[in-house]
Amino acid sequence: MDAAEYCRRGREMIDYIANYLENIEQRVVYPDLEPGYLRPLIPSEAPLEPETYDDIMKDVEKIIMPGVTHWQSPYFYAYFPAACSYPAMLADMLCGAIACIGFTWAASPSCTELETVMLDWLGKMLNLPECFLTGSGSQGGGVIQGSASEATLMTLLAARSKAIRRVKTSNPEQTDGEILSKLVSYTSEQAHSSVERAALLGGVKIRKVPTDNCAVRKDMLKKMLVEDKAAGLIPFYFCATLGTTPSCAFDPIYELGPICNEENVWMHIDAAYAGSAFICPEFRPLLNGVEFADSFNFNPHKWLLINFDCSTLWVKNQADLTGTFNVDPLYLKHENQESGLVTDYRHWQIPLGRRFRSLKMWFVLRIYGVKGLQAHIRKQVNLAKEFESLVRADKRFEICAEVIMGLVCFRLKHSNELNQKLLKKITESRVIHLVPCQLADKFVLRFAICARTTESRHIQLAWRHITQLTFELLQETVQ
Ligand SMILES: *Cc1c(COP(=O)(O)O)cnc(C)c1O
Repeated sequence: MDAAEYCRRGREMIDYIANYLENIEQRVVYPDLEPGYLRPLIPSEAPLEPETYDDIMKDVEKIIMPGVTHWQSPYFYAYFPAACSYPAMLADMLCGAIACIGFTWAASPSCTELETVMLDWLGKMLNLPECFLTGSGSQGGGVIQGSASEATLMTLLAARSKAIRRVKTSNPEQTDGEILSKLVSYTSEQAHSSVERAALLGGVKIRKVPTDNCAVRKDMLKKMLVEDKAAGLIPFYFCATLGTTPSCAFDPIYELGPICNEENVWMHIDAAYAGSAFICPEFRPLLNGVEFADSFNFNPHKWLLINFDCSTLWVKNQADLTGTFNVDPLYLKHENQESGLVTDYRHWQIPLGRRFRSLKMWFVLRIYGVKGLQAHIRKQVNLAKEFESLVRADKRFEICAEVIMGLVCFRLKHSNELNQKLLKKITESRVIHLVPCQLADKFVLRFAICARTTESRHIQLAWRHITQLTFELLQETVQ
């Protein structure tokens, strides 16, 4: 493909994408296929001779699109949102074209420097304490990770090294292995599965803290830390959640943070979904207490209109990351490395290679402005409230968790079995798409406002559809 054809196909692709997104409502949101559907539709080997672009695009509509779950459809209410906006997609094209691998400052100075400044911009939008910002001359700073799971793993590993170093200072006779076997991490029983996974990958124990109304209470955390210390174990890491995945509940970090600080326990905050809302002053109080944290992470690729992947992580002390994972082969050294003026992000993450992800953040923050992004968050929260009132007005249903952001947890006031049947009907009719969660021992339906283009009429239609299926279900049950 030469430049002339690239320009022609590029324009076609831009049109195809705009047409896809603007007419996405006409597509079935959730595919009706059996596993293995794709293999028989394409050759078993790569073509020996080149093929034409037209043939590929025909196959996109014929083979790929029927197997897409349309996350950007306004009838998609499953999981949490996956951000998508035009400026982010354009910036991603540019990122693809520059195609640098920005592991060190020298490997592409703007790739590193824009990221550092963008993390300060975003940090200021959230009103993060100065200790997390780079420009303020503090020890802290921010980095873009691929996912919240990676941010949790990185901080758990950093906390692990720090704890081993600390124990060794007072007990030099203990080996790393001995210390490692006593380290314990903690998180809420409502935390995302990636926290447990990080502990597994990091080779440390993890204890799930029981919750009260879906949040960790300080007495319970304190009790577990005291018990474990008395048993000769070493508590070292606590992952708090702001906006849990099942029900968007918030751990009170202003209460839990001081306990962690007293006990030498690293507090990490996972605000993967809800973090974006902290750019609105009315939601910012939920982040009070972040000053006690050692690290804080959320996913602009969920709710801040910056396409995947963009998970922003701030640490209070850069050296906790860079000091832990530093290896220095000659081919990665560069002349500015020792100056103390540059960031080499390879020390902040698991892979060596990294994309120019801050470009999409820069484009989105400038095109929308803080006000535009606040308006997006508020609009989606209001849609969730609208859905909540529809549910509340129907006595057959109940709301199962306080609706604070864009997620509504609800169920029929009936058995788990009947609620499972209702979800099955919803899934099979494919008009809308949602997934369940479990709260206490109840089977609950989760309705998350996801697509950027979701409007009131979509919510209204979704509710009419759910009540119609409920009517049918109750009829069948009576018979
Ligand atoms: C979505 C979510 C995650 C996982 O995010 P990834 O970026 O996919 O790793 C982690 N924690 C919470 C609370 C989430 O909602």
